[in-house]
Amino acid sequence: MELGLGGKWALVCGASKGLGLGCATALVQEGVNVLIVARGADVLQAAATHLIAAHACQTGAEVLFCAQDITTPGGREAVFSMRREFDIVVTNAGGPPAGDFRDWDRDAWIRAVDANMLTPIELIKATVDGMAARGFGRIVNITSSAVKSPIDILGLSNGARSGLTGFVAGVARSSLAAKGVTINNLLPGAFDTDRLQGVLKAAAARTGQPFDSVIEARRQSVPARRFGNPAEFGATCAFLCSQHAGYITGQNILIDGGAYPGAF
Ligand code: NAD
Repeated sequence: MELGLGGKWALVCGASKGLGLGCATALVQEGVNVLIVARGADVLQAAATHLIAAHACQTGAEVLFCAQDITTPGGREAVFSMRREFDIVVTNAGGPPAGDFRDWDRDAWIRAVDANMLTPIELIKATVDGMAARGFGRIVNITSSAVKSPIDILGLSNGARSGLTGFVAGVARSSLAAKGVTINNLLPGAFDTDRLQGVLKAAAARTGQPFDSVIEARRQSVPARRFGNPAEFGATCAFLCSQHAGYITGQNILIDGGAYPGAF
């Protein structure tokens, strides 16, 4: 299927590895020019070099990178000073730590809300009016299956991301919808990334169980009996960004191997 995205420009956050890199890869494979962002310069540069050598040299896409913390005003300013207008924005940053809600003080909550609610909102605010003026725009927020099915130890994530979900439900149905701008959330279940390894290591440490048993139990808890991979996540993101997905907006799309048990 031709996605009709060649020559568009995408900002992809949290894209040196994991799900963000999966999205950037799928977009570059479709000929989309990308500006990828992550905090660590070395890993980000290596990701950009790989994107160029493996994909962009075939599709002609341009790959820029900017090593910044996207959750800070200065980080966002640096990103937008490299390029101001984008047709596609994939919002993403690291998830908050797991733990017991009794241990989280106001600062911990502010950090989580900043990273997983206010940063995507700032990125949306900075880009959607330009998209609307040009008649095409795609915002994809990487959130979590925890929005639909909260996980006890991920309270910071459940709370902050639910705030973003409520905001998106409203703004996606605003006047932007008639101007070709869609805003959707992609909700990953268990994907094989460093983040998942970190969460499972913390679970092993907390319960005293061997790490391998914790991983296997988690895998078996997914009806698909496997973890997702970033490439299939990226392919879904690219479809949502495509010309074919212009009538999909304000949605929360689960990619979780069947883990969420509800009919809706
Ligand atoms: P990951 O740790 O593999 O990768 C995270 C990426 O984001 C890295 O490139 C990192 O450098 C970058 N990043 C983190 N904080 C940043 C910041 N402040 N500014 C710029 N870049 C930043 O994580 P992942 O598994 O790809 O997860 C992506 C998001 O999806 C996270 O918010 C995570 O909580 C959420 N999520 C992941 C899973 C899963 O199973 N992997 C499940 C549910 C939700």
